[in-house]
Amino acid sequence: MANIGLYIELKEGVFKKSNRELLSLARKCGQNVHAVVFCSDVQPYLPKLRGIQTVIQVNGADLAYQPDRYAQTLADIIAEFKLDVFCGIFSAQGKDLFPRLAAKAKASLVNDCLAVDLAARKCVKPVYSGKLLAEYQVNDGRALFTVRPNVIAVEEGPADGQPEVKTFPFNAAPLKTRIVQVMKSAAKKIDLTEADIIVSGGRAMKNKENFAILEDLAAVLKAGIGASRAAVDAEYATADMQVGQTGKVVNPKLYVACGISGAIQHFVGMKTSKVIVAINKDPEAPIFKKADYGIVGDLFVIAPLLKEELKKNL
Ligand SMILES: Cc1cc2nc3c(=O)[nH]c(=O)nc-3n(C[C@H](O)[C@H](O)[C@H](O)COP(=O)(O)OP(=O)(O)OC[C@H]3O[C@@H](n4cnc5c(N)ncnc54)[C@H](O)[C@@H]3O)c2cc1C
Repeated sequence: MANIGLYIELKEGVFKKSNRELLSLARKCGQNVHAVVFCSDVQPYLPKLRGIQTVIQVNGADLAYQPDRYAQTLADIIAEFKLDVFCGIFSAQGKDLFPRLAAKAKASLVNDCLAVDLAARKCVKPVYSGKLLAEYQVNDGRALFTVRPNVIAVEEGPADGQPEVKTFPFNAAPLKTRIVQVMKSAAKKIDLTEADIIVSGGRAMKNKENFAILEDLAAVLKAGIGASRAAVDAEYATADMQVGQTGKVVNPKLYVACGISGAIQHFVGMKTSKVIVAINKDPEAPIFKKADYGIVGDLFVIAPLLKEELKKNL
């Protein structure tokens, strides 16, 4: 039986939603599953980690995220627990951490997977900006995979079986590279990569103040707010809001594109959304070819109307 490892990502101590997807994937693979959590107290996370064999709690005096230390500690865990396959989330941290881990653990890495068969060491991932889906299989050595958030179906209900908890020391070796500062966006925003609903604005928003219209709509829908690159370049929106090839890849249940033309570079960042709604005053806008529902009209009229209607019904 193979040993599968999972990197459980915490954001300021909060268990990221996408961990549930990783766990759902792992629980049904029929292998020995070990989840690694960097924390001083693992108890609050244990109810979420039921149904797997082992939880490896990494403890140390200063567990602040430093990629070199995290990668080295995980490489040590992979060696110690003889993990054949190791998985994480294709999040900002996953993108930073896993390539370093692959180098340190001398493992093969496939990033941004849409499906993973952990037992067969196979996965499917988009290539050429999402134009094709490629199947990969890691035949030899250790295999690392990162999984795109919001793709894997989450099991309902609590899983059976309390895992055994083991501890492992944090490798606090001297750092070659060090994160000096993490600059957070001023507003407390919903993480777009994990959001269930996103309302996005494009160049048509005309200025940053007009994004308030989308904020109102997003508040009713409990949605995150995204933007096209044109809106970001024009400084109507901040870089962390950009969706697309050079922005974030998102995968919500509902994506509402307001005044966005639907250029391929935007589309590749949101095309796996379950339902796409487009509001655009140009009936020929390419976004309508990709949208499940299209509203031809002025977003400055439609978005407030939509907000009022949703308010009545939600
Ligand atoms: C290498 C590369 C990488 C890129 N990466 C990205 C990326 O990550 N993300 C991204 O988004 N783009 C990216 N782009 C840019 C991309 O090609 C487009 O230029 C960009 O997506 C266009 O943004 P937009 O749809 O907001 O603007 P536009 O293409 O100008 O479209 C504006 C739309 O708003 C509509 N409109 C105008 N007024 C109204 C109104 N009042 N009500 C309703 N509709 C209205 C118009 O009909 C039009 O369809 C990239 C480009 C390159 C070359």
